[in-house]
Order: sequence, then C-alpha cells, then structure tokens
Amino acid sequence: MNSLSAPRYAVIGAGMAGLACADALAGGGARVSVVDKGRRLGGRLATRARDGRSFDHGAQFASAEGPAFADALARFEAAGTAAVWPALGGGPGPRYVGVPGMADLAAPLADGLDVRLATEVAAIDGAAGAWTLRLKDGAALGPFDAVLVTAPAPQAAALLEPVAADLAAQAVRAVYAPCAAAMVAAPGPADAPAFLRPEAGPIGWACRSETRPGRPRPAGVQQWLIHATPEWSAEHLDDDKADLVAPLQAALEALLGAPLGPPVYSAGHKWRYSLVTEALGLPCLFEPERGLGAAGDWCLDGRVEAAFESGRALAAAVAVWGTLRG
Ligand SMILES: Cc1cc2nc3c(=O)[nH]c(=O)nc-3n(C[C@H](O)[C@H](O)[C@H](O)COP(=O)(O)OP(=O)(O)OC[C@H]3O[C@@H](n4cnc5c(N)ncnc54)[C@H](O)[C@@H]3O)c2cc1C
Repeated sequence: MNSLSAPRYAVIGAGMAGLACADALAGGGARVSVVDKGRRLGGRLATRARDGRSFDHGAQFASAEGPAFADALARFEAAGTAAVWPALGGGPGPRYVGVPGMADLAAPLADGLDVRLATEVAAIDGAAGAWTLRLKDGAALGPFDAVLVTAPAPQAAALLEPVAADLAAQAVRAVYAPCAAAMVAAPGPADAPAFLRPEAGPIGWACRSETRPGRPRPAGVQQWLIHATPEWSAEHLDDDKADLVAPLQAALEALLGAPLGPPVYSAGHKWRYSLVTEALGLPCLFEPERGLGAAGDWCLDGRVEAAFESGRALAAAVAVWGTLRG
C-alpha cells in the first residue's frame, strides 16, 4: 500500500486510549490524524508544571496486569518517559510514573504521529467513507475513512449522537466518579510521609510530588497533591476550583498533626470524569457500516491499562475492516 492509497483515520483524544489506537493504526500503514482539545498529550495522565514545581493531578501511577501493557511500560521506561516508583509497592508488578511528569508517560506512542493539540472537535460531519471533523474554531479536517472517538464516555456520546445514535446509547451507560484535587506547595512538617491513604474523612489520597521519581525537588518546599474521596468530590462539584484548596489543605494538616506553613503555590482542579466505576465490559465500540468507533477506559475498567487495551482493540477492529474494504 503506498501512502496515498492508505486509509485515512481521525482519532479524537490524545490520552492513553487515543495514542494506543493511533500508534497501532499508523504502524499498520494508515494515515492517522490525532486531535485533542488539551494543550498537552495525555488526557487524565496530567501534570501541572510551574516555576520549577510539578504536580501530577490526575492518574498517580500505571501498572500492568497483562503482557501487552507490560511491554508498553517497558518500552516507555527504555525511552526515558517512565520510571518505577518503588516506594508505592502493592503489586502485582511494578507501579510506574511518567517522567518528568505523568503527562509524558505515553509520549513514545506519539512519535511520528500527526497530533494536533489545543484542537477541539465540535462535531463529526459527512457520511460513510468521507467524514469531516468540524472544529470549535470553525475550521474543518478531513476527509477520513473512519473517525474514532476516545473522549470520556459522556463527551464521546455527545459527538457520536448525531451520526451514530446506537454507539452513543452504549457510551452513556458508563458511570464515573468525580475527583476534586488540590495542589499546595509549602514548607510542611519535616517528618511528613511521602504519601497517605486515609481511611476516613474528605481525603482519599495525598502525595508529596517531590518524592516521586524524576521530579523537581526544590529545597525546603513540599509539593502536596491531594485527591478528595468520590463522596466529598460529588458534594463539591459545583464549587469554584480555587475554593477546593482551603478545606482539603485543612484536612491534610489535621492528618499530619501540623500546619503546612505559608503556601508558595496553590491551585484546585475538578475532574468531573475521574475513575470509571461502571464500564461497558466491551473492549471497544465499532460500526463497520459507517466507519465510526469509540474506545477508552470506560469500555473496560477505570485504569490506564484498560485505556491502552481498549485503544489497541479498536485499532485491531479498524485494521481488519480496512483490509476487508480493500
Ligand atoms: C484523579 C485521577 C486519578 C487516577 N488515578 C489512576 C491511577 O493511579 N492508576 C490508573 O491506572 N488510573 C488512574 N486514573 C484513571 C486513568 O487516568 C484513566 O483510566 C486513563 O488515563 C484514561 O485514558 P483515556 O485515553 O481513556 O481517556 P482520557 O485520558 O480522558 O483522554 C481523553 C482525551 O480526549 C480529549 N477530548 C475530549 N473531548 C474532546 C473533543 N471534543 N475534541 C478533542 N479532544 C477531546 C480530552 O482532552 C482527553 O485528552 C485516574 C484518573 C484520575 C482523574
């Protein structure tokens, strides 16, 4: 197949599912365009880096239960974008973090791909064999033989509804928990642990970012990432994100038994779609008649590995379909 006769595919979303899908399709010779509304790769593999400080405010680690993702993590480690986080333990298998941030974990999958960031898709337009992406800024991309949506399920459903209502109806079955997050850089007590998993109260997880492998370690500053429990997060979903910081910082100080001291940086973040609590139980969705499909953690399980497996499954389905179409 020469490059001009190769099929053209659009992948919406440059999180783990979208990159795993696009990487596999491009590896098979297809022409693939990836678009993401975010300013960085990674989706919920997210890092906020400012003034020599960094916080991974989304996924905390990735681990593999199956051989395909174990191989991918080993590939990322060899490329220098992943490192084992030995302090976390817990098995089975090592826990990996992205380096220098979680957002970098899957960067090797994007090597050589046409990836357009800060590009939000407003609608999928056209018909089978000639799909166009209508972008929020008024521009259009296409034509594509197939469009593959890897946004979180509610956002995927909204894009698919006008062109594939049956796929949208499946996507809306996925259920997510929200997660409120606070990031605080402050002196902190000298004996503070590297991370905490409280069993009660508003905090589900808190971690000092500077103790994770490959992170900046500014002298005299602890960089706390605090994730609220799903229950507390649901109660505070409509709060201004800046208002999340004070109650979560106070809850952390109560757990530490000491104040953090005056913050040099603080910010809040709301993940409306954080961990998938009810997945579809299907590897991916694909409609061969129209050449429209979807993948993401919401198909299989709320983990980075599930997003990878779902993206790969969609790529495999599309590759077979592309071969049968000739
Ligand atoms: C707070 C938190 C903690 C977590 N902790 C862990 C953990 O420790 N371990 C673990 O395994 N998993 C964890 N997870 C889950 C893990 O992050 C996800 O399972 C995984 O990253 C999902 O990948 P994805 O590609 O399916 O979706 P996403 O990463 O959400 O990617 C979807 C992408 O689609 C883009 N998009 C959406 N709509 C559009 C549009 N209209 N146009 C263009 N682009 C669009 C988004 O910008 C996004 O980049 C955590 C998640 C959160 C939020």
